[in-house]
Formats: sequence, structure tokens, C-alpha cells
Amino acid sequence: MLPAYISHPDCLKHTMGEQHPESPERIGAINDMLLIKGLLDFMQPFDAPLASEKQLAQAHSLLHIHTMAALSPVDGSVQVDPDTSMNPHTYRAALRAAGAAVLAVDLVLGKGAGSAFCNVRPPGHHAEHNAAGGFCFFNNVAVGIRHALNVHGLERVALVDFDVHHGNGSEDILHGDERVLMCSIFEDKIYPFCGNQPRGPNMLNVALPARSGGDVMRAAVSAQWLPALERFRPQLIVVSAGFDGHRDDDMGNLGLVEADYAWLTKQIVAVAQRHCQGRIVSCLEGGYELSSLARSAAAHVKVLLGLDD
Ligand SMILES: [Zn+2]
Repeated sequence: MLPAYISHPDCLKHTMGEQHPESPERIGAINDMLLIKGLLDFMQPFDAPLASEKQLAQAHSLLHIHTMAALSPVDGSVQVDPDTSMNPHTYRAALRAAGAAVLAVDLVLGKGAGSAFCNVRPPGHHAEHNAAGGFCFFNNVAVGIRHALNVHGLERVALVDFDVHHGNGSEDILHGDERVLMCSIFEDKIYPFCGNQPRGPNMLNVALPARSGGDVMRAAVSAQWLPALERFRPQLIVVSAGFDGHRDDDMGNLGLVEADYAWLTKQIVAVAQRHCQGRIVSCLEGGYELSSLARSAAAHVKVLLGLDD
């Protein structure tokens, strides 16, 4: 049962301007690196479907869904926040990115794949119940998690988010939902400037100081995430896989390297093997320096595949 690799050409058509760091080239850089390293030989490729309105509405208000559809321009671009804009292809790409998470959940819970990696954009973890922002339109992981809970009937799903930015959108949607444990590590005092005060008892937010490096991240995950995940006994682990904490990525200053992402993934895989037959759904979030993004994502996927040594 090979892990699933989910992507779609529509994800390359959404652009927010030539200079924007959240670029279509991110998808190709990751795909090329997985190909060169031979990792795609060990994965089943799938095209991401379009998420339905009903699936999106598990995580978003109908007002938000309809607003996004209505804003979608016929040509040119429409600004959603100072850093986030839509072109004529954005809405469809956003539906594919959320649909990838839904398909990944269906495959992993339906025994079609042991785990899944979604190489999709736009990212999602800054999209709130009722708002787009921070390069995100729909919250892909939250849509996937609610699908696992509400359609597949799971009782406990863990979300782990290691993007350098706090997943404020995921917290907005999932706080207070006791079926979910969200573990987030992020750099303190950068966008979205929140997370220090968790919004519910099911939120485990760990803010790391700038320039703290991999050892501090590993110690925080070992001391805080892992015991909480053990107690929670997840039936599925969903990952917000952002690689912008890499030392070569100037979106953040955590100073992480590929080996840190491999280590983090090993911890997640170990929890998944103990509690949920290794079921992991990983969705791309941030990571903007193409070379380190591709190398870090490959290190992450290699561990997901069980090919690390
Ligand atoms: Zn980020």
C-alpha cells in the first residue's frame, strides 16, 4: 500500500504577481526533487479533486465560501489582503488544494494508501472560518480534518503544524472542538502575531524565539508535543507541513535545516505507528526559498515513506 502523492496542474495557474514568494514554482521544485531522489517511484499519484461546497462548509461559513466565489475575477486580479490576491484561476486552485486534503483522508482511512502527501497550493493554515488571508483562501487541513470526523466518524484527529508562522486559521476553526488536538510550533512575534494565548484547551501552541535553532525546536517538541499526542491517542494525524523555518528562507528566523524536518517527521510517524497504523495526511503550507523548500519537503516525504535510515 504505497503512500499517495496528490497534486494538480490547476495549482500552478494561481499567481499573485511575478515577485510574490508564494509562487507556482514551489510545486514544481518539490515535484522535481521527489522525482530526482526517486521518491515518486514509491508513491501512488493522484489528481486533486475539487472540494465541494458541502466539504468546505465543514470548516468555513457559507458567507466566506460565497464571498470567495464572488470575488474571483474574470481577468486581472483582486486583492484580498495586502499580501493575498486572486487571479482568474485562484478559486479553482483553492478548491483543488482543499479537495486534495479530502481525497488524502479518504485514501488513508479507506485503506487506499497508508499515508499521503499533498503537493498543493494555495496553502491554507491562515484561512479562518470566515476570512482569507496570509496567502490562504480555504483551510485545507481543517477541511480534511472535519471530513475525517464528520464523514468518516473518527473521534480523535491530531493536527501538527510546523510552519514558521502560527496556523491562526486552523486555530480559529478548530479551537473548542475536543475531537481535535492541534500542536503548533512557530516563531514568536512574526505574522500573524498571535498564538501565545491558546484559544482553547485543545490548542498546544509553542512559540519559539527568533534564531532559536533546531535543538530548541526538538526540545520543545519532545517536552510538549509528544506527551500530549501520546495522551490524545490520535486515530489520524494531519500535518500542516510548512518549510519556511529553514535557515535559507527569509520568511522566518528559526534556523532549521533538512535534518530537523526529518527528525520532526520521525516523531510524527512514531506516534502514528503507535496509535493509528501510521495514518498521516500531510499538506504543504509555507516554504518560499525554492531550493531549501524542495530539499526539506523531500526529507519529510522520505521519512513518511519509511526510507530514512
Ligand atoms: Zn509560513
